Amino acid sequence: MSGYAKPLPRITPDNGPFWEAARRHELRLQRCLACGQVWYPPAPVCPGCLSDRHQWAPMSGRGTVSSFVVFHKAWFPAFASETPYAVVQVELEEGPRLTANLVDVPPGEIRVGMPVTVVFDDVTPEISIPRFRRAP
Ligand SMILES: [Zn+2]
Repeated sequence: MSGYAKPLPRITPDNGPFWEAARRHELRLQRCLACGQVWYPPAPVCPGCLSDRHQWAPMSGRGTVSSFVVFHKAWFPAFASETPYAVVQVELEEGPRLTANLVDVPPGEIRVGMPVTVVFDDVTPEISIPRFRRAP
């Protein structure tokens, strides 16, 4: 057991491959084998054409901040020591948007349109959480 006190993802049959890839420090999302759409969050069928044929395709990990919010209140006690902290929405080059945290960017420096790239935070032996840092 680790001392990680923050909420952890609940692994399901739909999202298992996402978290297995993250543990290897790979960002993989579902890509439809019928129409090519890439989607997130994980779902059993393509939101574009409803095909159930897909692959877990590697993503570039690059994107831009499309939205963010700064929390000044700790809704989870485990975050109390970190307020204020930001939660960002990152639009990946491939299209889907992920909700994540930025590392090494103070909340006051976050801007919509900021280029970012994925990094992985090994929070437990089983779970590595994708986060983003400012792209060089
Ligand atoms: Zn499709």
